Amino acid sequence: MEAPAKVRTILHSIAGKAEGQQAARFGEVYNPARGEVQARVAFADAPMVDRAVGAASAAFPAWSATPLGKRAEVLFAFRALLKEHAVQFAEIVSREHGKIVSDAEGEVTRALEVVDFACSLTHQLKGELSENVSTSVDTYSLRQPLGVCAGITPFNFPMMVPAWMFAIAIACGNSFILKPSERDPSASLLVAELLERAGLPAGVFNVVHGDKVAVDALLAHPGVAAISFVGSTPIARYIYETAAANGKRVQALGGAKNHMVVMPDADLDAAADALVSAAYGSAGQRCMAISASVTVGDAGDALMKRVVERIGKVNIGPGSDRGNDMGPVINAAARDRILDYIAQGERAGATLLADGRDLQVPGHERGFFIGPTLFDNVTPGMSIYRDEIFGPVLVNVRAKSLDDALAIIRANPYGNGTSIFTRSGAAARRFQSEVDVGMVGINVPIPVPVGYYSFGGWKASLFGDLHVYGEDGFRFYTRTKVVTSRWNESNAGMNLGFPTHK
Ligand code: NAD
Repeated sequence: MEAPAKVRTILHSIAGKAEGQQAARFGEVYNPARGEVQARVAFADAPMVDRAVGAASAAFPAWSATPLGKRAEVLFAFRALLKEHAVQFAEIVSREHGKIVSDAEGEVTRALEVVDFACSLTHQLKGELSENVSTSVDTYSLRQPLGVCAGITPFNFPMMVPAWMFAIAIACGNSFILKPSERDPSASLLVAELLERAGLPAGVFNVVHGDKVAVDALLAHPGVAAISFVGSTPIARYIYETAAANGKRVQALGGAKNHMVVMPDADLDAAADALVSAAYGSAGQRCMAISASVTVGDAGDALMKRVVERIGKVNIGPGSDRGNDMGPVINAAARDRILDYIAQGERAGATLLADGRDLQVPGHERGFFIGPTLFDNVTPGMSIYRDEIFGPVLVNVRAKSLDDALAIIRANPYGNGTSIFTRSGAAARRFQSEVDVGMVGINVPIPVPVGYYSFGGWKASLFGDLHVYGEDGFRFYTRTKVVTSRWNESNAGMNLGFPTHK
C-alpha cells in the first residue's frame, strides 16, 4: 500500500491572486486510485463570486479594446506554454481524475487544437461590408464581445472542456470566470498561471471553485453576460432555464447515451477493437463513450464473442502507470451508483457476459475500481439502457435491420454522438443522413470534431442554439452590430416616409 499523500489546499484565482483561505466551506478532492483524500478545495460563496465578477468586469474594457493582433499574440504564447506543460497537465489530470496519463495527454492535445483555432481570431472576427446599399450609404457589421462570460465544467475532462470555452471567449475580447468541477480542480489553476505568463492582463481569466452555491451566484449575477455549461442533463436543463430567465446568453451541453451500430458486413475485429476502446477508455467516463452497441442481424453473436475476448486483455490499475489501459472511476458515490446499475441489469434479465464487480487491484484495494462490464440482450425499457451510467458498462441491444437500429436511436432521449461500422457506403450514407444525433462517426467510434468544427449534441444532450468551439464558439461569444452610414456631400432633404434604400 502506498503512503497517503499530503493534503493540499486549493484556492480560487481572482485577478491572478489566490483567494479563499478563509472560505466557510471546503470540498474534498480524492485520489481515485487510492480511494483517499489528497486535497481540499475552497468553495466560493456569493460574495466571492461577486469579487470574481468585479475583477473580470474591471479587466473587460481594456482587453476588449486590445488590438486583435495583440490578443492573438497572447494566445500564441499561451499555446506554446500549454505545449511545453502538456505532460504536467496530464499528470495533474490523471492524479485527480484517475484516467491513465497517456489518455490525459490526449485530452491536452485536443485542448491545444481548440487553442490553435482560437489563435485564428483575426480571421474569425471579420465583419461584413456592403458598399453603396443606397446612394453614399454603406452597411457593415461589427462582431463585439459580450463582457464577462462564465464557464461551468464537468469532472471528466478538466483540461479540455474548459479550453473549449475560455480560449474562444478570450480570443473574442471577453473576460472569463471558470467554475471547474470541484472533484478535479487543479488543472484550471495551471491554466490561470500559464495565461498570466503568456501576457494576459490580470482579471481577464479567473477561477472560482465550488458547487451549486457558486454556480447559482454566477447564474444570478447581473454582471455575467453569458454562461457556457457542460455536464449532466438535469443540471444542463436547470442551467439553461435559470440563465435564460436571468437574461443571459446560454449554451448548456448535457449527458449522453451513445450508440454504435454494427452491421453484419462490418470488419468485426476492427469493430470490436473500436467498441472496447470507446466503451471502457477513461473507465467509460467520456460524454462521447459508446455505452450502447446495436448489433444488426448476425453481427450480434460474432461481435459479443470478440468483445469478451478483448475485455480479458484490458489492464486495469492506477492512471500513473502508462502500462494500464483503464483507471478507476471518480469517487465512491460514482462507483456505488454504477454497481447498483449492474445489479439492476441482472434483475431485469439482461445477459451478463462480463462482470466488473469484485475487481481487486493489488496495492490499491481502496481505489474506486470497477472492471469492464458487458450486458447482452438488453432491451430499451431496461434502466441500464435508458439511463446514462457513466462508467465501464456496455449494453448490447440486438436489432433486425438498419431501420430497426435507427428507430432505437431515434427513440432514445439523448443525441450526443453515434457511430456505424459497416463496409457499405449506402448504409453509412443513409445512417449519417437519417440519424438524429449531433456528431456521427463512420467506422470511427468517438467522432469528437476537430477544433475548427464545432462540438454539440442534439435532443437532451444540448440546451441552447450554438455548439461549442469552432465557428459556433466565435458566434456564441460575440454579438453582431450592424452599422448603416451615409457620407455624402449633399443633403438628401426631408422625407417622413419609412427609409428605403432605392
Ligand atoms: P455534473 O452535471 O454533476 O456537474 C457539472 C458541473 O455542474 C460541475 O461544475 C458541478 O459543480 C456543477 N453542478 C453540479 N450539480 C449542480 C447543481 N445542482 N446546481 C448547479 N451546478 C451544479 O456533471 P459531472 O458529473 O461533473 O460530469 C459528467 C457529466 O457531464 C455526464 O453526464 C457527461 O455526459 C456530461 N458531459 C457532457 C459533455 C458534452 O459535451 N455533452 C462533455 C463532458 C461531460
